[in-house]
Amino acid sequence: MDLDQKITAMKLWHLSLPVLSRRDHGIGTVEGACEIIVVSLTSEGGHVGWGEASPWSVFTGSPEASFAALDRYIRPLVVGRRIGDRAAIMGDAARAVAHATEAKTAVDTALLDLTGQILNTPAWALLGGKCRETIPLSVSIADPDFDNDRRLLDRLVEDGVGIVKLKAGFKDHAFDTMRLNALAKDYPTLSVRVDFNQGLSIDEAPSRVADIAEFEPDFIEQPVRHTQFAMMARLREMLKVPLLADESVFGPEDMTRAVQEGICDGVSIKAMKAGSLSRAQEVAKMAAANGLSAYGGDMFEAGLAHLAGTHMIAATPEITLGCEFYQARYFLKQDILETPFPVKDGQVIVPNDPGLGIKPDIDRLNHAAVTKVAA
Ligand SMILES: [Mg+2]
Repeated sequence: MDLDQKITAMKLWHLSLPVLSRRDHGIGTVEGACEIIVVSLTSEGGHVGWGEASPWSVFTGSPEASFAALDRYIRPLVVGRRIGDRAAIMGDAARAVAHATEAKTAVDTALLDLTGQILNTPAWALLGGKCRETIPLSVSIADPDFDNDRRLLDRLVEDGVGIVKLKAGFKDHAFDTMRLNALAKDYPTLSVRVDFNQGLSIDEAPSRVADIAEFEPDFIEQPVRHTQFAMMARLREMLKVPLLADESVFGPEDMTRAVQEGICDGVSIKAMKAGSLSRAQEVAKMAAANGLSAYGGDMFEAGLAHLAGTHMIAATPEITLGCEFYQARYFLKQDILETPFPVKDGQVIVPNDPGLGIKPDIDRLNHAAVTKVAA
């Protein structure tokens, strides 16, 4: 059988990708460049599958940790194994190294891409089949200089993007209300979400969040630190708009606790948090089964991670609130894919070609690499 082929090689690239603007979040800043790890797996027959780990040191972990998890701990579990044994390989990876969810998702993505190419079928077909052709795109507004974001907002409206997420809580409250007033007045067609990225202290969260709720955003996300489940539950009780959890919910285990403790009305689903595409789907299904909504979030990603997320969401009907795969088009100076990540009229287009559907540009990988390892 084709999927009995062994994986003969695994290559890694640690990339530094220059970005167009500074982005501030409640828990930290990205400026200059973002760092990702790209992994390739080669089959006996010569197919090459691709995956991406997109860590952020203040959120999921460092790029160095992702690289080491892949190079030292996961590599021996992958090279020499059969391509068809994806579930077994991922189970072994879960046991071999704690956390490192982005590294595990990168390998899962590469295995899925390889399987799809060999079977001549798109990745979404391997994740349960397609429930949508397009996914509404949300772009985040996070520049400390709002005039820069105004230029971005003008471009988004022109491009047909209908959703923005205001990153809040990294400066004072007046800065957040000024921007929300400007969005309402100057960009009335945009649907607005607000994300504090854990930026508020326990003392200030109730009053600041209640004030932001007066603007009636679609939802308010993760105002306090990820461990503050009791405060999340209190804010949810108090608010008249939905409260979403992001950093508090990585995988299905956290989702169980989030439901038990009533901390949110919805959840941000990210493959980079969950540790595999299947686990991300599981979080979404658990949310829906408990009456909670879900959207497809992301980290500071390049096109390969966007593609993985797109196939996952295409095959997950429970993710109803769109996606945030905007970095390839609106944040990176240059993405890593051979052809642009597909976005049209404010919608991500689900690819139908085998595997992930688009390959990275290898010259670009080699050019942007801080470290390369092949074996
Ligand atoms: Mg978030």
